[in-house]
Amino acid sequence: MSSYPHAVPTRRHELTACLAADAQYDIAIVGGGATGLGVALDAAARGFKVVLVESHDFAKGTSSRATKLVHGGVRYLSQGNIGLVREALHERSTLLENAPHLAQPLAFVVPAYRWWELPLYATGLKLYDVLAGKARLGRTEILNSAETLALLPASKSQDLMGGVKYWDGQFNDARLALALARSAAAQGALLLNYICATDLFYDDAKVAGLVCQDTLTGQPYRIRSRCVVNATGVWVDELRQKDGAANRSDGRRPVRPMVAPSQGVHIVVDREFLGGDSALMVPKTSDGRVLFAVPWLGKVILGTTDTPRHDLAREPLAFREEVDFILNESALYLKRPPLRADVKSIWVGLRPLVKPQDDEGENTKGLSREHTVLVSRSSLVTVTGGKWTTYRAMAEDVLHTCMQEALLAKKPGGVTLHLKLVGAGPVGMKAVSICHAPGAHSYGDEQALLAGLPGAETELCPGFTEAMIRFAARYEYAIKVEDVLARRSRLLFLDARLASSLAQSVGEILQQETGLDPEIAAFSALARQYFTWPE
Ligand SMILES: Cc1cc2nc3c(=O)[nH]c(=O)nc-3n(C[C@H](O)[C@H](O)[C@H](O)COP(=O)(O)OP(=O)(O)OC[C@H]3O[C@@H](n4cnc5c(N)ncnc54)[C@H](O)[C@@H]3O)c2cc1C
Repeated sequence: MSSYPHAVPTRRHELTACLAADAQYDIAIVGGGATGLGVALDAAARGFKVVLVESHDFAKGTSSRATKLVHGGVRYLSQGNIGLVREALHERSTLLENAPHLAQPLAFVVPAYRWWELPLYATGLKLYDVLAGKARLGRTEILNSAETLALLPASKSQDLMGGVKYWDGQFNDARLALALARSAAAQGALLLNYICATDLFYDDAKVAGLVCQDTLTGQPYRIRSRCVVNATGVWVDELRQKDGAANRSDGRRPVRPMVAPSQGVHIVVDREFLGGDSALMVPKTSDGRVLFAVPWLGKVILGTTDTPRHDLAREPLAFREEVDFILNESALYLKRPPLRADVKSIWVGLRPLVKPQDDEGENTKGLSREHTVLVSRSSLVTVTGGKWTTYRAMAEDVLHTCMQEALLAKKPGGVTLHLKLVGAGPVGMKAVSICHAPGAHSYGDEQALLAGLPGAETELCPGFTEAMIRFAARYEYAIKVEDVLARRSRLLFLDARLASSLAQSVGEILQQETGLDPEIAAFSALARQYFTWPE
């Protein structure tokens, strides 16, 4: 039996009516990415009265743009950050257990072309195994060249000396975010996308709630809450500045930014460029980064980069050098190197790296991947940094801080450790590999609910049905074409031209369901950005 036998409807007018009601919440969360949604689920599961507002769509920010790895972070080992690796390895197991339809183990192979690489990589990766302890997913193995080619059939065979195979996880990030949102709603939380927190309000110089605006209608709302959590990723400093300005009557210095954004680019090509169901990992590229080729939803993701940025665009553009770098590095390892014309989609995410004091954020590769929780003088709680894999541990940390600060009543933690997410199904339910093309199987144990909707047999393209659009509108908060094609289905990320060609049909079905403007033209312009080579 599923933990959530009945999907909670997500009709917009009902959600906004709840928001308009003059309620007092225990905790109001700003930001519907991995971090905010994790906090919402944990708080709701502990029995708090929870509201979460997201200015765009759930996971529209960084949380839909990850490399899709549920990992301990092999490369943090070389930085000696053992604690971070150990915590992430523990969280990796928890996530794979609680959402097996969306997060699964994956074999990675590090190919070796120089004699000293095999012992070097094997030593590091064996240590990774040891750190995992009981959370280990499989044994690290040294492979000869034939075994390496069996797992990576499209990699270069010339001078190949062998490889090292190790285990980590992969996931569908945006669908996991939706599963978190829906699981939190099933526990009684109120969550709304397209509601922007524009300001805070105060009682006796302490944060007492949020001023918000519906970005679809312009309707304002005031949300009263005992505790406010700022989980807005790379955008946390906007709300922190407002909080600082509102409480700066004593001439204190302005709030210093805590985030140094760093851009990561991915490109997507067809499965044949990698072959097999294993990922390829290059621990050290020509400029000292890590490069992955990951089989994902029937395609291959290549990336990523680490480029400091000073702006915080919602849809950042890749730099020409970044895509050239990914293609050139891939060409060193793949038998048939992908060319420009082979690229199906280019997408960019901003890492919310936490900035040390007195650092202007130019060297982001060295900055902390750990998360930070800060409480301001007015009791605004801000959380940022970390990674997708550790969202659950971050949420526990946030709630612990809120309780320590007496913003929330004390309640025991650990409630999400064994909490199955929506769609997870019973233990032992067979999940289809995330390497394979998406389809009804991505819905886990909600496939029967999906199959009962109109258009279950009508495919708009292989693996994507009319019923999926209706499901997105009725149960997954979808309003715009982009919500469906970028984050409920992942077509924008997998093949931007194909996604663009479906915009009109998706928009018509969506509008029938919601009665709202699905913004078809805006999606077509966005899709163009994903398939246009950067100048
Ligand atoms: C290129 C790249 C690759 C990565 N790969 C991995 C990986 O493979 N594995 C892994 O574990 N981690 C990975 N990460 C890290 C991970 O993706 C992030 O740590 C995580 O997604 C951050 O989530 P968040 O919720 O803090 O931020 P976000 O997902 O950005 O969420 C913040 C949200 O706040 C909203 N918001 C902003 N302002 C307001 C406002 N005023 N009112 C309401 N809402 C607002 C935004 O719209 C946004 O949706 C990667 C990151 C990048 C950039």
